[in-house]
Amino acid sequence: MNKLGIFINFWENTWNVDHIKYMKKAKDIGFDILEFQAQPLLEMSHAHMDEMKKNADELGIELTYSLGLDPRFDVSSKDEQIRLGGVEYLKRIVECVGYMGGKLLSGVSYAGWRCCDVDPVSGKQQLLENSLKSMREIVRTAEDNGVTYCVEAVNRFEGCLINTAKEAVAYADAVDSPNIGVLLDTYHMNIEEDSFRNAILLAGDKLVNFHTGDNNRRCPGRGHIDFDEIFQALADVGYTGRIVSEPFVAQGGEVGKNIFVWRDLEPDMSPEYRDKEAEYLLHYEQEMLKKYGMA
Ligand code: MN
Repeated sequence: MNKLGIFINFWENTWNVDHIKYMKKAKDIGFDILEFQAQPLLEMSHAHMDEMKKNADELGIELTYSLGLDPRFDVSSKDEQIRLGGVEYLKRIVECVGYMGGKLLSGVSYAGWRCCDVDPVSGKQQLLENSLKSMREIVRTAEDNGVTYCVEAVNRFEGCLINTAKEAVAYADAVDSPNIGVLLDTYHMNIEEDSFRNAILLAGDKLVNFHTGDNNRRCPGRGHIDFDEIFQALADVGYTGRIVSEPFVAQGGEVGKNIFVWRDLEPDMSPEYRDKEAEYLLHYEQEMLKKYGMA
């Protein structure tokens, strides 16, 4: 069965949190993977990272990593100093993920997150070329550290370079490394793709990670996305990789602000209810995997 995971900020509204507490919680609920923002690793001592790693190993939970790249480190920037600084910054993050024994780095990690201040016609190509130039260098560090770089296609309000599976595949092909692949996220696909099924078929064996979230960014099954179509397509391309859910449901805090959550989305916002909802999510995805012969 595909490994199933959850993003840590389903529970917390700051990006840096008590990771060990949530490793235990995710494991108790039954998840295989806990995903979280990679940037806090840069501030951690080796002793702290060792402690996290030890706990994850003992619990038997895999840690995967994501990031929304700070515009100050935009590796697609026209400003060569910002671009080069970004390359060094991302190399250091990849090294930290490698130190943790991590295998995947996801997110908007090929350009500044929500950096869309560009001429809509003439500007995009130059940024794309800058990003590719940067990535051909960063991916060497990924290769050296056994990390796979997951190029996540995100909706138009969060990035201008890669909105669709087609653009993500073209980007990964242009970088040309065994350590780069495509990440599709149902929340973003719902906005940008003509068809969930066709996007997944197009990504095919380039697909190295998969994020789930409903149209309202609640857990799958809590909005109107057709997850039967999605899991059927994942089965049809023979996807055996990780599936990590990324619900963002709480107003407030830096996460609520960064993700634009302007109201509480669950009928009950208590921690107990949140845990029950995570249980529901795991069960929902397990049933989908069984239904489409992936279990
Ligand atoms: Mn995502």
